[in-house]
Amino acid sequence: MTLTPLQELAQSLLNCERCKLATLGRSQVVFGVGNPQASIMFVGEAPGFNEDQKGEPFVGAAGKLLNDLLASAGLSRDQIYIANVIKCRPPNNRDPEQDEVETCKPFLLQQIKLIQPKLVCTLGNWATQTLLERKVGITKVKAQAFHLKDFVLFPLLHPAAALHQGNLLPTLKEDFKKLKEFLDKNTKPAEPANTTQTPTAPVLNIESPQPAQMDLFG
Ligand code: URA
Repeated sequence: MTLTPLQELAQSLLNCERCKLATLGRSQVVFGVGNPQASIMFVGEAPGFNEDQKGEPFVGAAGKLLNDLLASAGLSRDQIYIANVIKCRPPNNRDPEQDEVETCKPFLLQQIKLIQPKLVCTLGNWATQTLLERKVGITKVKAQAFHLKDFVLFPLLHPAAALHQGNLLPTLKEDFKKLKEFLDKNTKPAEPANTTQTPTAPVLNIESPQPAQMDLFG
């Protein structure tokens, strides 16, 4: 069976030893899951314990919360694609280190290039700063659309942050409402029903960059 370029990329990383995380207790590389034709992609930080065991991003407690938040925005996991900046679990869930991000980032960029999402929702500081290529705090940029060259970036708080700090949960829910409003404004009416098997992903039609947004970076 011939592999798609995305499957080939996943295969090429199966036994990745490009950074030290390969020797620091990971069980497997967690490449990403979901609809390879998705117009919406979510990007988290790095696999945790459950993700490392199962080989899928966001399957632990943060993943359960993410599923509820997705549902609140009218999305399901089979419509989207989910990946992390770092594909291997850092020991004891420590923050990724700069060399690990630099080693793994090209593979995230290749995933994005192959999937071609219109919208990339980054979850938390790591994913947001990696894709914005700026050291800007998530609270300053969250729940707003940034028109980058190849896609629109919509940063959100990381669900794990709301699990650790319960007072962030209402904000996170509010921000997913803003995501829903953005999707409602930018989603074309569905095509007439067809008989193909692939789950239909929302078709986003995002136009007009907003130059004023750059002021946010000061
Ligand atoms: N947190 C992340 O950033 N990614 C996961 O896959 C799970 C938890």
